[in-house]
Amino acid sequence: MTLKARAREKVERAGISNYSFDHDVLVMCGVRYTIAACDCGEADCDGVRLEKDAAAAGRILQ
Ligand SMILES: [Zn+2]
Repeated sequence: MTLKARAREKVERAGISNYSFDHDVLVMCGVRYTIAACDCGEADCDGVRLEKDAAAAGRILQ
């Protein structure tokens, strides 16, 4: 399964239907999240991590 597919599952499991993908970036409520593989090894880890897009956050702060 691709990271993108995992991210979609994660979001849908959280009950969020208002999201979209911009290439490999997840956009939720106007916030962009970079999809990254997670290797924390926790038992309940789904192997995917969503990181707030740093560049976008920087723009908001300016
Ligand atoms: Zn993890």
